[in-house]
Amino acid sequence: MAVTTTHGGNGTSGNAGGAAGATGGGSGPLGEVIESLSPATGEILGTVPVMAAEEVDAAVARARQAAGTWGAMSAAERRAELASWRRALAARADDIAELIHRENGKPRVDAMLELYLALSHLHHAGNRADKALRTRRVPSGLMANLRATISYQPLGVIAVIGPWNYPLFTPMGSIAYALAAGNAVVFKPSEHTPLIGQLIGEIAREAISLPHVFQVVTGDGRTGGALARSAVDKIAFTGSAATGRKVMMAAAERLTPVLMELGGKDPMVVAEDADLDKAAEAAVYGALTNAGQACVSIERCYVVDSVYQPFLDRVVAEARQVRWGADDEAHIGAITMPRQVETIREHMEEALARGARAVVGGPEGIRGNFVPPTVLVDVTPDMKIMREETFGPVLPIARVRSVEEALAQANATTYGLASAVFGKSGVRELADRIRAGSTAINSVVSFVGVPSLPFGGLGESGFGRIHGDEGLREFCHVKATAEERFSLPINLASFKLPRGSYERVRGMIHHLFGGGAIDRLRDTLRL
Ligand code: NAD
Repeated sequence: MAVTTTHGGNGTSGNAGGAAGATGGGSGPLGEVIESLSPATGEILGTVPVMAAEEVDAAVARARQAAGTWGAMSAAERRAELASWRRALAARADDIAELIHRENGKPRVDAMLELYLALSHLHHAGNRADKALRTRRVPSGLMANLRATISYQPLGVIAVIGPWNYPLFTPMGSIAYALAAGNAVVFKPSEHTPLIGQLIGEIAREAISLPHVFQVVTGDGRTGGALARSAVDKIAFTGSAATGRKVMMAAAERLTPVLMELGGKDPMVVAEDADLDKAAEAAVYGALTNAGQACVSIERCYVVDSVYQPFLDRVVAEARQVRWGADDEAHIGAITMPRQVETIREHMEEALARGARAVVGGPEGIRGNFVPPTVLVDVTPDMKIMREETFGPVLPIARVRSVEEALAQANATTYGLASAVFGKSGVRELADRIRAGSTAINSVVSFVGVPSLPFGGLGESGFGRIHGDEGLREFCHVKATAEERFSLPINLASFKLPRGSYERVRGMIHHLFGGGAIDRLRDTLRL
């Protein structure tokens, strides 16, 4: 990515508004454009305008208009519109995968898999919304004369700010669920992958009959900042913790609620009774897929002493088979964001200087934006490679005395996004004790492929959930309704209480809460 200043120059990649009648292409009032560069070759793939606050506000105002109509549609009507978008995206599968491959740098097959995952969530969100958001009755407790219901209503306009590592799948986890819940969406893709954002916006404009319900605004952090300060009803942010803090500060100006999907330092634990072949293959895949640029990457691996060496032998054999480069045979491609290469190098070099060993790869193998698959051993908890998000194709493996020690080290982090455990006896309990939003048992990253599982983190990994029923409800406000079915002999919500009410209420308190009558009543009536 490069930002260059132009004077009224036009973007080469078509409509930067991207969807449903949004603003046309060309540079915005800031007079600047972003050149989207191939991380593999440096080739300019296209340019998009850096949109200023005026254009962002205009897109949000158009979205507000659309939100009224969209929110009033039935879930079945919205499902049909989203199905039309899904079919249109599927019809353009080759174009989308090719653009992800070129703009992000990942292999074509990974790009196609990313589209597959994104579409499975779009399908699930559209189909599930009716059921997950249906008005439901809840017990009315001692207020037996009331019918108590909870309903889920759309918030209005959702801002989605996305990263570059999974430029389609990651934002779709918010976009699909927000739209299916009845909201309009304004999406700002990462400045490193703006063209893929534009493309899905263009396809939406053709496939969704309601204009402006999904719009794309392009630009860098300034455009993201303008969107965070705009009059949206919620911000779904995916990116680094550092930027997440800035977004929260901007959102605080209007008390706009936020959903934070941030980074991770995801651990994997290998117990004594683990299937070592499976665990080694999974560790290598989990750490190296997408060249390690996944928030759910395995970034640390803890292996109990008794199986350490056989596990390591298998990992080394697996990792040596991983091909890296830009050709079609490569399993992992370029690092998308050039400055990330320096972070990866720094983490590796610091670990090596403090006593770690590279048994596969290492920093000296780095060539431009390509980092070799690397396995580090003899790592210690104080090294950056074990504490900070590396976001590169590196698997550091620590030897621990027991599963308890593995667990203690796995949980000794400020992050809490994802994790994996391998073993047999007690493995479920082990999974429950890892402090993270998601845990894969005897697999890695598998939870992202299950659309009904909510996804999100703890601590510096963020808060709120995308995917699943929780992901749909995240983009709703919860409406509580109490409807009177019949009048009680005494109306407690009145200034016309009869004499002696004080004593009567005190008696009820003693009887119900002090004497335990409420528990007996609850058991009898199943309240
Ligand atoms: P980033 O924080 O640099 O940028 C994310 C987005 O924020 C971009 O669109 C950027 O333009 C925008 N932005 C930058 N400054 C802004 C500001 N002041 N106000 C508003 N928006 C602003 O993150 P990145 O490098 O694109 O993504 C990598 C990070 O994302 C990693 O930490 C990774 O772990 C995390 N991530 C998390 C998830 C998840 O679901 N938890 C998924 C993918 C990536």
